[in-house]
Amino acid sequence: MSILPVQFGRSMIFHHHHHQQQQQLMRRRRGRMSITPRASRTQKIMENISVTGEAGGAGGSYSYNTLKRLDQLWSNICLSDTRQPGDVVLDFSGSLSDVDMGNNRMSTFDVLVCGGTLGIFVATALISKGLKVGIVERNLLKGREQEWNISRKELLELVQVGILSEYDIEQATMAKFNPNRCGFEGKGDIWVEDILNLGISPAKLIDSMKIRFTSLGGIIFEGHGVDRIFVYDDRAIRSGKKPDGVCLVVGTCARGFKDNITSDVIFSSSSTKTVGDTKLQYFWEAFPAGSGSMDRTTYMFTYVEAKPGQPKLEELLEDYWDLMPAYQGIDLEELEILRVIYGIFPTFRDRHNAGSPLTTLQEVVLDLDEEDTVE
Ligand SMILES: Cc1cc2nc3c(=O)[nH]c(=O)nc-3n(C[C@H](O)[C@H](O)[C@H](O)COP(=O)(O)OP(=O)(O)OC[C@H]3O[C@@H](n4cnc5c(N)ncnc54)[C@H](O)[C@@H]3O)c2cc1C
Repeated sequence: MSILPVQFGRSMIFHHHHHQQQQQLMRRRRGRMSITPRASRTQKIMENISVTGEAGGAGGSYSYNTLKRLDQLWSNICLSDTRQPGDVVLDFSGSLSDVDMGNNRMSTFDVLVCGGTLGIFVATALISKGLKVGIVERNLLKGREQEWNISRKELLELVQVGILSEYDIEQATMAKFNPNRCGFEGKGDIWVEDILNLGISPAKLIDSMKIRFTSLGGIIFEGHGVDRIFVYDDRAIRSGKKPDGVCLVVGTCARGFKDNITSDVIFSSSSTKTVGDTKLQYFWEAFPAGSGSMDRTTYMFTYVEAKPGQPKLEELLEDYWDLMPAYQGIDLEELEILRVIYGIFPTFRDRHNAGSPLTTLQEVVLDLDEEDTVE
């Protein structure tokens, strides 16, 4: 799109002495311009990849349309002064026992976990302690195709809690790699062992967790979004807050890397870069992927404030197509892009602070709405 005004300017100079012809040409060009806006490199690459099996959770959507929707959401966060979920959480001054719930099965749970990706691990831990637990997930409860990179030590904590077996871990492990680099451009590398050195299939791990959770009597409400929360017993619940900062991440899983034995836990190039109005420092991660010996996941991420003028994910991807090949020592043309991955992580300085959206509820009733949305 940015190239069009340049072409337009040239044609005006060229037709300087032919006013009428010039007007006609301008009209024709204007017409053409509005019909065929120029696609970004990101759009071209993403629309060439067939997208299957998108999951609802973070980093689980790979299509260009969903990227545009997430960029719109991110722009809205930047523009708003505060994020008020006020209409979602409603206070009731009475006690829950005063309310006639009829046959509503919601009333019978000790805990309802909203959101199923990591939620199912929490829910399974709680149900194994004897609580009555349900999960409300607005999409299907399934793990994404893109592997989670994680340390075995982290997964063993779930074995200690008693909700995962070592066999489950083996079954879901798609890739193992060592050593793993922490690199700082111009400052040298530090090589570590067993840190973020596994590629785990979220799809497989969450499937086995689903079986465990339901076999313990847990109930999963799929295709139900939590719409409103009614808070009884007059407990304080605070309104939500715009994030203090946001981590923006873009990346790909791509085929064609010849040198694909080790990973980068973190790599930072020392210089900052200006994108739009903002100075950014980019960080990288890179992991061998389980789908093939030349398949590699590379992520580029940065930290920004949530304020107007911040770069969109698509702008970061435009940078990524230049910088990733340079970082990995490869030509983009040598790679087959298997999927494009992106996400935003809101961060809060102090989650116990008055403004934090993460506060404890007491007796609550959830109002579920049936919908099918992708985050
Ligand atoms: C690009 C990217 C790469 C990542 N890579 C890794 C990695 O390699 N390793 C790793 O450990 N982590 C990784 N992560 C972090 C990732 O966020 C977590 O691993 C995991 O997805 C977090 O799970 P979650 O349950 O907190 O959130 P999510 O995965 O976002 O799941 C939230 C769920 O809640 C549901 N939901 C939302 N709102 C409602 C509602 N109102 N009612 C009902 N349901 C609702 C959503 O549908 C979704 O299923 C990555 C994230 C991104 C964005």
